[in-house]
Amino acid sequence: MGFVFDPPEVTQVPVRGSDDAFPVREIYCVGRNYWEHRKEMGFEDRDPPFFFKKGRYSIVNCPDGGEASIPYAPQTGNFHHEIELVVAIGKEGFEIAKEDAGQYIFGYAVGIDMTRRDLQIKMREKGRPWDTGKNFEFGAPIGPITKASGPEPLTKGRIWLSVNDEMRQDADLEELIWSVSETIEDLSKYSRLYPGDLIYSGTPAGVGPVVAGDVMKGGVDGLGEITVRVT
Ligand code: MN
Repeated sequence: MGFVFDPPEVTQVPVRGSDDAFPVREIYCVGRNYWEHRKEMGFEDRDPPFFFKKGRYSIVNCPDGGEASIPYAPQTGNFHHEIELVVAIGKEGFEIAKEDAGQYIFGYAVGIDMTRRDLQIKMREKGRPWDTGKNFEFGAPIGPITKASGPEPLTKGRIWLSVNDEMRQDADLEELIWSVSETIEDLSKYSRLYPGDLIYSGTPAGVGPVVAGDVMKGGVDGLGEITVRVT
């Protein structure tokens, strides 16, 4: 049997040092996973971080040594950058213990969780889902995936983002409230994880707006850098 129209193309992210690509399944994101960012968003509580999702149409591949571009998102006047470590899942698992989490990680990438902050806050105030603030086309730029070098999940390394060469976010993965292992443990209680899933693990402090013409550069130690122009 055929299809009534062409099925969507597979969303993919290149794997560094390989001719193969990582096919993307689901895109999970962690909210408020660094203390200083929690504070700048107006929260001092110790509630556990939480999850939201983006669609595959969010993915924008950023080539090594090159520049990607994204349009200024529609319906916002406060379009924010959130630099994040992205964890790429390579194995199916449900209720994964944090001690075992490393076995489920294929690799890591540098990503930006672009956010329509005005819409997100409006929805937050009304107790509504964050989708319009977080989930939109071209909202998740990502660099090539670097394969994990061993079974132990990443726990440290500088994570940073500049806008027009001015440093805006500069922190270390050590400051994650929930580590990569703990995030996988918790997320996998709610959702079975599959190869192809990506987890944007949360952003450190220093989020802020970009406008058309701005150039964001971001990186995580050992995972390369990405450059994204807003058009
Ligand atoms: Mn985020």
